[in-house]
Amino acid sequence: MDVFDKASEVELRDRRLALLQRKPTLPYINQCHNCEETVPETAHFCDADCRDDYERRERAKK
Ligand SMILES: [Zn+2]
Repeated sequence: MDVFDKASEVELRDRRLALLQRKPTLPYINQCHNCEETVPETAHFCDADCRDDYERRERAKK
């Protein structure tokens, strides 16, 4: 195998990992992650306000 092919393969994988870490995917728990209100199982939050609140809190943690 070509050395350059191998290098770009690793680079691609690293970039994908970095992308995953930057935006962690939340599990669908049938509850708003912000206020624990019941939401459809394909939703993370009841509305944009809750999402903003949650994201602000997550940022404050770090
Ligand atoms: Zn909510």
